[in-house]
Amino acid sequence: PDNLQAAAVDAYIASKLLPVDRALEAALAANAAAGLPPIDVSAAQGRMLELLARMIGARRILEVGTLGGYSTICLLRALPKDGCLISLELEPLHAAVAVRNLDNAGAGGRAQVRVGAAIETLEAMIAAGEGDFDMVFIDADKPGNVAYLRASMALCRPGAMIIVDNVVREGAILDADSDDPRVIGTRALFDEIALQPRLAATAIQTVGAKHWDGFMLIHVGAA
Ligand code: SAM
Repeated sequence: PDNLQAAAVDAYIASKLLPVDRALEAALAANAAAGLPPIDVSAAQGRMLELLARMIGARRILEVGTLGGYSTICLLRALPKDGCLISLELEPLHAAVAVRNLDNAGAGGRAQVRVGAAIETLEAMIAAGEGDFDMVFIDADKPGNVAYLRASMALCRPGAMIIVDNVVREGAILDADSDDPRVIGTRALFDEIALQPRLAATAIQTVGAKHWDGFMLIHVGAA
């Protein structure tokens, strides 16, 4: 399909299947007003993240790459009252917008945004003995993907789910000679999975409002 048709199908999916969520709508408006780039997951993808988290009974969720907290709010919708979501963001402005959006969504202390380079925050979390995450959503700078995957493995419980966004990039991942650091980082992620016997993974291509891309789904086996 062309992008317009795929976006129209996304709108149909949303109209039929997705509950109206005023906080998500308000978050997109607040992000735009603050000048954040519109690179959040789509509504249908966000709902998929929510349902996956709910289906595995996730109580502790880690997110790498908050932006304005759109996907964070989707994940929050799956969390029980005593659940906990930690989201990592480099840009203080993005984090500040996200905190307001999360408050508006009724996070009620369950969601925390930590500001800084994600790899430093992840290393600090490992050093502090934080862990036991049921689910990780990796959606930040793509050159960091391998480091984020390795750190996530250290922070997850056995049986956890890791999801990585943007692993297809309109097919650009086929280009072994690409000098695009996002493609190089994504290809390195595929290579890393093959080297990690604890991991079982697949990648699903997506089309829609956010063009041709894909999610990688990873199951973390016992150590
Ligand atoms: N997950 C968000 C959503 O769907 O609503 C979108 C995240 S956006 C694609 C990527 C975010 O990662 C941006 O806000 C960017 O500032 C952040 N980022 C980039 N490099 C980072 C780093 N080294 N550490 C932490 N966050 C980073």
